[in-house]
Amino acid sequence: MNVPMLDLTIQYDQLKDEMNDAIQEVLRSARFILGPNVQKLEKDIAAYSRVGFGVGVGNGSDALHIALEACGVKAGDEVITTAFTFFATAGAIARIGAIPVFVDIDPRTYNIDPSKIEEKINEKTKAILPVHLYGQTADMDPIMELAKKYNLHIIEDAAQAIGAEYKGKKVGEFSSAACFSFFPTKNLGAYGDGGMIISNDGEIAEKCRVIRVHGSKPKYYHHVLGYNSRLDELQAAILNVKFPHLDQWSELRREKASNYTNLLNEQLGDRVVTPYEAEGHHHIFHQYTIRVEKRDELQKYLQEQGVSTMVYYPKPLHLQPVFAELGYKEGDLPVTEEVSHQVVSLPMFPELTLEQQQYVVRKIAEFYTK
Ligand SMILES: *Cc1c(COP(=O)(O)O)cnc(C)c1O
Repeated sequence: MNVPMLDLTIQYDQLKDEMNDAIQEVLRSARFILGPNVQKLEKDIAAYSRVGFGVGVGNGSDALHIALEACGVKAGDEVITTAFTFFATAGAIARIGAIPVFVDIDPRTYNIDPSKIEEKINEKTKAILPVHLYGQTADMDPIMELAKKYNLHIIEDAAQAIGAEYKGKKVGEFSSAACFSFFPTKNLGAYGDGGMIISNDGEIAEKCRVIRVHGSKPKYYHHVLGYNSRLDELQAAILNVKFPHLDQWSELRREKASNYTNLLNEQLGDRVVTPYEAEGHHHIFHQYTIRVEKRDELQKYLQEQGVSTMVYYPKPLHLQPVFAELGYKEGDLPVTEEVSHQVVSLPMFPELTLEQQQYVVRKIAEFYTK
C-alpha cells in the first residue's frame, strides 16, 4: 500500500466542474488583479473569522511581513516569537530589519510557552508573534495579558490554523492582525501561492491594503514604501470554490486524528506521544504530529513500506546559519531542540481512508517490535 502525506487530486475530482467553471469565468472576465473574487474572499474570510477586514496578498510570508509593517514594526525593533516553526515566521521579522527574539515552547502543544515571554520583554519589544502550529492555537489568554500590560501588538501566524478556535474565539479575534497562507498544502489551499491578513482594526487593514500596492494611495501617489503583493484573482476564484467546504474538511481531519490516536494508543501505548489538544482549544489538524524515539530510522522504515512522513521542523530557527549573528547556541531552547529531534508528521488529509490509517499504524508498530 502507498500512503502519501497529502493527496490533492481527490479534492479536485470532487470539485472539478465547479472549479473549471470558476476559472473559465475569470478568463472570460479578463479581470486578473484585485477583482470581485478577491473582494468576495476577503469579505467571507473576515466574516468567518468574526473580524472586520480581510486583505488578500501574494502569500503567507508576505502577509506576515506586511502585517508587521502595518503595525509599525521597524528596523531594530524586537519581536518575540517561537523558533519551532516554518522559516517565514522569523524571516518576515528579519526582512524588516527587526530582531526575532526566540522563546521556548510548551512540550505538549509545541506552541510558544507564554510563561517564558515576559522575561524577554524590554523597551525595544514591539510585538509578539505566536504561531498556531499544526492547527492548534497558542495559549492566547496569557499572551493577550502581556500584550495589554506592555502595550504590544500581537500578530498571529495562522498559516496552519484557519478555522482553529481558542475558548470559543476564532483565530484573528485575539490580535492586531492574523496571517493566513493559501499555499497548496495548507488546509485551505490555492493552486499556487496566496495569503491573507485579517484584522479588526480598520487602520491596520487599510495600511496593509496600501502596502500591497506599492504604498500607492491615491493611485500613483506614494507616502509609504510598499511593494507588489496581491492575491491573484484566479487563485481567489479557486479559493471561493473551496472555502465553503473548509469546516467540513476540518471535521474530517479531526476524525482522522482521533482514529490515529486510538490506533496508536492500542498498538503502541506509551511508545509514541500522540497530539495533545489543550482544553478549550479546537485543533484543526493541519498536521498530525507524534513524538517518537529513533525518529529518523522510523521515517526510513516507513518510506520503505510506502508510507510518506515529514518532519516539521528538523532544525529550529535559532540554530539556522542565517540567524547565527543573533548569537543563539545549542542548549538555549532545550524543549524546542529536544522536540525537533523527535517529531514526525503522519499522512493527513480529509480523504485519508481508515485502511490507510490502519496500515500506517501497523507499520509503526512493526518497526518498534521487530
Ligand atoms: C506556510 C507557512 C508560512 C508561509 O506561508 P507561504 O504562503 O508559504 O508564504 C508561514 N508560517 C507558517 C507557520 C507556515 O506554515
